[in-house]
Amino acid sequence: AAAIDWARVRADFPLLQRTVHGKPLIYLDSANTAQKPAAVIDAVDDFYRLHNANVSRAVHTLGAEATESYEGARRKLATFLNVRADELVLCSGTTFAINLVAYSWALPRLKPGDAIVLTRMEHHANIVPWQIIAERTGAVIRVAELDDRGDIDLDALYALLTPEVKLLGVAHVSNVLGTVNPVRDICREARRRGIVTVIDGSQAAPHRALDVAAIGCDFYAITGHKMVGPTGTGALWARREHLQSMPPFLGGGEMIREVSFAGTVYNDPPHRFEAGTPNIAGFVGLGAAVDYLSSVGMAAIEAREKELLAHATEALSSIDGVRILGRAREKAAVVSFVVDGAHAHDLATLLDLEGVAVRSGQHCAHPLMRAFGVAATCRASFAFYNTHAEIDTFAAALVKVRRLLG
Ligand code: PMP
Repeated sequence: AAAIDWARVRADFPLLQRTVHGKPLIYLDSANTAQKPAAVIDAVDDFYRLHNANVSRAVHTLGAEATESYEGARRKLATFLNVRADELVLCSGTTFAINLVAYSWALPRLKPGDAIVLTRMEHHANIVPWQIIAERTGAVIRVAELDDRGDIDLDALYALLTPEVKLLGVAHVSNVLGTVNPVRDICREARRRGIVTVIDGSQAAPHRALDVAAIGCDFYAITGHKMVGPTGTGALWARREHLQSMPPFLGGGEMIREVSFAGTVYNDPPHRFEAGTPNIAGFVGLGAAVDYLSSVGMAAIEAREKELLAHATEALSSIDGVRILGRAREKAAVVSFVVDGAHAHDLATLLDLEGVAVRSGQHCAHPLMRAFGVAATCRASFAFYNTHAEIDTFAAALVKVRRLLG
């Protein structure tokens, strides 16, 4: 493959040109939300300027164009994930996607005595919906613990998968530790026991080539804004038999075939789960984002981010008093760290004055923080548009900030 000119790729992202507090911005918060290339911004702009109309409701030209753009985005995303387009429900993001599984698949099925298994590293979006369902149904939640490196203890996980377990929720990639979980193996073990699997792909889809069909899960959730797409976009992939057996989550226009006061006939999936006017422009942007990621190449993106991760890990490891959380066997480009004697928010505030954007806090993962015995961490997360020079500047800024904090 021809070598990629990463400086040119970076130049596709207008926001990365700006300064913060008079310093060049060093954006290390892509796991929170990614920056957007001009191709995505232009696609949204073009939609509103030239094609704006509602989907599937009007026979006029603009209506047909809007519908084609929206359905085109669904097809692009399906190709990107290697799934069927008619098994892809478009929604506002992972949070919505997992809640859809919770309310529509799990709520009618689970009973007292049933169990849901989650892992210690789940984001609140893959914990709280299950707690709500457990409370409503009388099911219980079991937690698979991690080892010191931040890998799931697979033997312990499999030991939890007893006959009471109906559902297993696992992050593909941890947003705090960067751990890449062996979801294919995990789903095989679950399937063998008749357990339905929900994979939170929020942090995987932006960073590696995905073959969701090959994972062997039942549900896979993604969020568009981390994939250089617009906020308020995402999707749930589900096996057709699940979608067909699931009652609607939200009722309204678009999700029906025929409505009378005597009763309503629902539309087929995936439209059955897309009540109301969707974020059409957002999905046009997400379609452009998927095109963009594909044009750079997911294998190249993964390789690039691996280099950035290795560089950042080495740079931070060489700073006195800095401790990195998570040394998983396979890691995405996320580095969570704590600094002796310094609070994460103070570090992040002072780093911001140097132009460096990192996230600080608990990263929507309170149970994980507790297991590692920390109140909060700073998290530097990288994308292919970051540079090695930025990592050096970040490390130098961290040394300076540490000195300031005594
Ligand atoms: N799961 C993980 C692992 C995440 O990192 C995030 C985003 N921080 C979410 C779920 C939730 O995604 P969203 O807020 O886009 O719904």
